[in-house]
Amino acid sequence: MSGLTDLLSYLDESPSQFHAVAASVSRLAADGFAVASHASADGAFWAESKGVLTHGGAAIAWSWPIDSGAADGALFVGAHTDSPCLRLKPSPNSRAAGMSILEVEVYGGALLNSWLDRDLGLAGVVHSVDGSTRLVEDRMPIARIPQLAIHLDREVNEKGLVLHRQNHLRPIWGAEGGDILEHLGVGADETFDIALFDSAPAMLVGAGGGFIASGRIDNLVSCWAAVDSIRHTESKRPVFVCLFDHEEVGSESTTGAAGPLLENVVGEVLRVRNQAGSRFDFLRKSLCISADNAHGLHPNYPERHDANHAPIVNRGPALKRNAGQRYATSAKGAAIMRRIAREAGVPLQEFVSNNAMPCGSTIGPITATRMGIETVDVGVPQLAMHSARETCGAADPTALRDLMIAAARTPSF
Ligand code: ZN
Repeated sequence: MSGLTDLLSYLDESPSQFHAVAASVSRLAADGFAVASHASADGAFWAESKGVLTHGGAAIAWSWPIDSGAADGALFVGAHTDSPCLRLKPSPNSRAAGMSILEVEVYGGALLNSWLDRDLGLAGVVHSVDGSTRLVEDRMPIARIPQLAIHLDREVNEKGLVLHRQNHLRPIWGAEGGDILEHLGVGADETFDIALFDSAPAMLVGAGGGFIASGRIDNLVSCWAAVDSIRHTESKRPVFVCLFDHEEVGSESTTGAAGPLLENVVGEVLRVRNQAGSRFDFLRKSLCISADNAHGLHPNYPERHDANHAPIVNRGPALKRNAGQRYATSAKGAAIMRRIAREAGVPLQEFVSNNAMPCGSTIGPITATRMGIETVDVGVPQLAMHSARETCGAADPTALRDLMIAAARTPSF
């Protein structure tokens, strides 16, 4: 079974959500999953016992054992492929102070300061007018956003760094002038979704390599665990892995969790098996594990957490609960997960936000609302969430994967 080394390569292979879909598909295809794009999927594809549908920055994979019906439900595992970042505007070329500058837009709730003084690459997707599409990337550190010197910002350490989103985040990338699109091989009448990423590779850090440092740990760690789990479940029941885009901006898109993608895929997969009539039984007997990272207890800011519900890095995935349903986990779902975790020998922690802090949310409540499936929000504890380079424990991602495998093997929820 693959592990930490494969996770580190997955993180490096996935500088954008589109690359994350490609990295997932290449692993699944190697294990015999049939692959189709949203544009090309047909009846024969939905009948495959192992398939993966790609749609932009999203992908839905399923494994449906030949002799399995819909009556006993399925395990759904959801995660998101996107991460906060700085995205190129459609006309990205600019000049200032004798340098070539990139015009960017902030995507999601990025920790803006974390993008300063890093060696940045560019990655994304290009669309041509003939309908073709391709991934594009420059992994060389091509751009940088230099912080203002302390001599010109004397109170920055005392008063905190304030960055103007329009003026202060523009990366420099050349001294001579030039066209970044030409540099990336993007044609004049092509369109693109291209964003900056930290070019430093994912690494094990700390004594004994106990931590992972990388960009996009939120939420590629969960994407990797989900993909690795469906590759290794040998489940007798159907399993769906749902990798959605646009979670960081609210999930409301054709490829986000609030869109119809999963519902449509499930509809087709049931229809070709003549199981559409069992849809209600299928959904009410299913379980959805919505996997997204949790805030691990930060040693320097214990007061920002709830002392009794602050998961600790490297002590296992956390079950996330919120009275206001920002997380979907119910007491019933929590009991199911405890049983699965116990059987799998995976430690499970609890996360609840400090009441004085706004609680985040994720795709769990959206899936629960749209599909009516019992949903639990689970995730590895991490630090520096939404930084360009985040940190999590090296032991937790495989534990999350093992929990997903154990859930897939559970005969009934
Ligand atoms: Zn997330």
